[in-house]
Amino acid sequence: PPPSHVLQRGLSPTSHLDGDGAAAPMETGPQPSTSSCSPPAHPPAVEDDLQFVLCERCRQESPNLKLLTCLHTLCFGCLSENKPIGQCPVCQTAIPQASGIPDMDNLLFTNLQARLKIYKKIRDGQGLNCCRCRGAAAAMWCSECEEFLCTKCFEDHQWFFKKKSHEAKRVEDLRAESAHQFLEESRKSCNLFCSRPGHADQGHISSIYCNKCEKALCCSCALLDSQHAPFCDIHSETQRRQEELVTMSRGLKQKRSSFEATFEVLQTEAARLEQAQREMRELIRQHVEQLVRLIRREEEELLGLVEARQEQSRQELEREVQRVEGVLRRMEASERLVEKVNLYATEQEVMDMQPFIKDSLEELQQLQPPVARDRAQPGDFAECRARLQAL
Ligand SMILES: [Zn+2]
Ligand SMILES: [Zn+2]
Ligand SMILES: [Zn+2]
Ligand SMILES: [Zn+2]
Ligand SMILES: [Zn+2]
Ligand SMILES: [Zn+2]
Repeated sequence: PPPSHVLQRGLSPTSHLDGDGAAAPMETGPQPSTSSCSPPAHPPAVEDDLQFVLCERCRQESPNLKLLTCLHTLCFGCLSENKPIGQCPVCQTAIPQASGIPDMDNLLFTNLQARLKIYKKIRDGQGLNCCRCRGAAAAMWCSECEEFLCTKCFEDHQWFFKKKSHEAKRVEDLRAESAHQFLEESRKSCNLFCSRPGHADQGHISSIYCNKCEKALCCSCALLDSQHAPFCDIHSETQRRQEELVTMSRGLKQKRSSFEATFEVLQTEAARLEQAQREMRELIRQHVEQLVRLIRREEEELLGLVEARQEQSRQELEREVQRVEGVLRRMEASERLVEKVNLYATEQEVMDMQPFIKDSLEELQQLQPPVARDRAQPGDFAECRARLQAL
C-alpha cells in the first residue's frame, strides 16, 4: 500500500465516511445498481486504510475505475487527461489500447466504493427508510438484494427468499460494525452467471466449472457438455484461483527484493556521481583561484620591474644630459676665451697661455656626441616580455 502520508486526509480512523450522503434525499434509497451513482463533488473522506478503493492518481471516488496492465487503478477522468501519453502516470507502463483507455474495469473497487456508501448511510443515517414501501423506517439490510427493509417488508422478503440464502442483518447491528467488517460480511454469496451468451441474461446461476472449457456453466450447459465431465464446483475453482494468485505473489517477493537491491545500488551510484561532480567542480575552482593568485603576484613583480627599469633609464638620461650640457658650456667658454685672447692678449700672455688653451681645445676636439638613444631602447623590457609570454 502507498505510504500513509499520501493518503492522509486529516481524518482519524474512526471518523465517518463523508460525501454527498448527508444531503441526499433518503427516499431514493440504495438501488440494486448503486455503482452507477455519480462521483461526489467534494473529495471523499474515506478512512485511510480504505483509500485503496479510490483512483490512484486523483484520489477521488469514481464509478468508472479501470485496471491497467500494471495493476494500477485509475479513474476514467484521469485516463482521459493522460490520453496523449499512453502510459500509466504512476509507473510509466505503456497502455496497450490505442484509445489510451484500458478495457478492464476494476469492478472490485467500484463495488467496494458502492458498499462503503451504503455503510456510510448506515453509520450516519438517521431515519433510514425502507427501499420497498418507501415509508417505514428501515430495520434490516439484505446484502444480496442491497436493500433496506422495514419490519413488514422484511417478513415478505423472508417468505420470498427463504429458499435462497439471503442473509439480512439488523441495521442497528451493522451500525456497530467497522467499515472493514461490513465490507467483508456484505460480500455477496456466489452469484456467478453462466458464461454462455444469453444464459446470463436469463439468470442462469452457475455453480459448476468445466476445467477443459475454463468456463462457469449452468446445469443445462453442464448436461450438454457431458464429454468434459467430471466438472468441479465453482467455489473450489475460485478458491484455486485465489490461491494461485497468492502463491504467485509470494514468489514475486523474492524478485522484489532483488529489484529493491538494484534500486539501492542505482541510487548509491547516482549519489556517487553527484559527489564526484561536486568534488571536481571544487577542484577546478581551487586550482583556478591558485592560478589567479600566482598571476597577480607575477603582475606585481613585472610592474615593479618596469618601474625600476624606468627609474634607471631616467637617471642615465639625466647624467647624459648633464654631460652634453657640460661639453656645450666648455665650448662656449673656449670660444669666448679664444675671442678675448685674440682681441686683447699681449704677446707675453699669448706665449704663456696658448699651449694650455690649445690642450683644452684638442681635448674638446676629441669629444664625440653620444649616439642618440642607444641606451634605453624598448629592448630593455626583454625580460618582462619573456615572462609575460611564459604566463
Ligand atoms: Zn482519477
Ligand atoms: Zn502503473
Ligand atoms: Zn417496507
Ligand atoms: Zn435479499
Ligand atoms: Zn467443457
Ligand atoms: Zn448455461
